[in-house]
Amino acid sequence: METQTPRRIVILGGGTAGWMLAASLVRTFGPHHATVRLIESGDIAIVGVGESTLPQVRDFNEFLGVDEVEFMRETNATFKLAIEFRDWARLGDRYFHPFGSHGHAIAGVPFFQCFLRAKAHGHDFNIDDFCYPSVASREQKFELPSEDLSSIRSTYSYAYHFDAYLYAAYLRRWSEKRGLRRTEGTVVDVTLRPDDGFIQSLTLASGEVVEGDIFIDCSGFRGVLINQALKMGWEDWSSWLPCDRAWAISSDLDDDGTATTRCTAREAGWQWRIPLQKRIGTGYVFSSRFTTEERAREVLLQNLDGAAQGDPRLIKFQSGRRKNSWYKNCIALGLASGFLEPLESTSIYMSQIAVNFLMRLFPGHPVDPALAEEYNRLVDIEYTRVRDFLVLHYHASAERKGDLWHHVQTMQLPDSLAEKMDIFKRRGHIHRYKDGLFSPASWIAVYTGQRIEPGGYDPQADNIDLDSMLGTMNDLRDRIASNVATMPGHYDFVRRHCRLSTKSAKSGKSHA
Ligand SMILES: Cc1cc2nc3c(=O)[nH]c(=O)nc-3n(C[C@H](O)[C@H](O)[C@H](O)COP(=O)(O)OP(=O)(O)OC[C@H]3O[C@@H](n4cnc5c(N)ncnc54)[C@H](O)[C@@H]3O)c2cc1C
Repeated sequence: METQTPRRIVILGGGTAGWMLAASLVRTFGPHHATVRLIESGDIAIVGVGESTLPQVRDFNEFLGVDEVEFMRETNATFKLAIEFRDWARLGDRYFHPFGSHGHAIAGVPFFQCFLRAKAHGHDFNIDDFCYPSVASREQKFELPSEDLSSIRSTYSYAYHFDAYLYAAYLRRWSEKRGLRRTEGTVVDVTLRPDDGFIQSLTLASGEVVEGDIFIDCSGFRGVLINQALKMGWEDWSSWLPCDRAWAISSDLDDDGTATTRCTAREAGWQWRIPLQKRIGTGYVFSSRFTTEERAREVLLQNLDGAAQGDPRLIKFQSGRRKNSWYKNCIALGLASGFLEPLESTSIYMSQIAVNFLMRLFPGHPVDPALAEEYNRLVDIEYTRVRDFLVLHYHASAERKGDLWHHVQTMQLPDSLAEKMDIFKRRGHIHRYKDGLFSPASWIAVYTGQRIEPGGYDPQADNIDLDSMLGTMNDLRDRIASNVATMPGHYDFVRRHCRLSTKSAKSGKSHA
């Protein structure tokens, strides 16, 4: 029978994943129920580019009891209302994937169906005009959502852009203050139990041997435990997501104060732009099958918004995931568990959701394989949802030219995505699901932004009087515009709300 005896939990890795987990364990179990020890190498840097988040990260901070203003000051953070996509389906295109939905049902008919009907009648509305955070993003405005839920100013959520090094350091301070034991050292050997192949101990370069009951692999792409020691296989998704490199750099701030992550399609990939308080984080994600590293570096440097801070740093990766993230007494989290390129800023969320699953299913002694199976099932759903959503952006890039774009436009899609697209193309219906990321509003934003036109609309939209439907739509668009016009500028709001502390400004200057 499983027991709940005090557990020795060893976390390997002090990147975002390692520290998010450490903080959660400390918060959940406290020092009396488990000992938590985190090992991180002073010689192996964290990947450090995870700067753009999803609104769920606020739930995580809230769970820890983190004060938003203090957290933003210490991590060089700004707000994020949306992702802005430029030049994806066609050069000159611009659309938003916002943290909010488009319009509201009219006479019980979903707004998007009304939008399609209006379009069929020749009204060429821009769907972004009906979404509060999209308009605020376009106008470079920000304020915290209203707490009055009847107000149009409450109809959005937000996330953060932050410095990944400072966030890891922040969580480290938080955890250490509450009793977490951190060891600086490099793991050079892993000993497996001869009888069942479970991990018994880690040997550090100093010679110290660290024993434990549960080992959490947060060692990044290396996967020191799950991959190198336990040889758990990798499911390669690079045929659908062929980008496998990024050049990353920071540049000086320019005068674009938008609260969005910008993703601009380029000849063999796309470029991100993440505005922080004191710098812009930027990088070019590209496929080495379709361009050279030299050419990609040149493209990035030609497209900086401000002066470069230092030289670009090359990061190599492969899109895919571990076949099982939990194997024996090892659970891989963060990049050790899988990676899907950062087009929708999903990776920190993936660590967060995996931490949630783990807290719910945390192994006792001995490890119950049924818990591992359930954990792996849940993680699998999350990865597959994100994969399909990312693939949609590439595949629906109708007019982009170049070898990468030709490949993704003509490749065979995962069945799960082909089915979703098929349903959408008929009448604009969204395939709904209970588990996993991306609400119908997200799918609508990307389908329309990528110029996928449904062949028709739901006939229930015809039951509404056309003039009154158009009147409601025009009124909504005008109300959003007039409210956004009275919001403060994003950077003005940041300066008033959470101006960076001098300490963070110095340490967070540039890590690219
Ligand atoms: C190009 C790019 C852009 C990205 N952008 C975003 C984004 O905008 N938003 C987002 O959510 N995510 C993004 N990500 C992902 C994000 O960076 C990661 O999910 C996040 O940083 C978590 O990384 P990690 O903690 O798993 O690994 P890492 O940050 O790599 O940390 C690994 C840790 O393991 C330690 N370690 C490794 N080997 C050993 C050893 N032998 N002994 C001791 N310690 C060891 C290291 O010292 C380090 O502390 C991006 C990733 C890439 C590649």
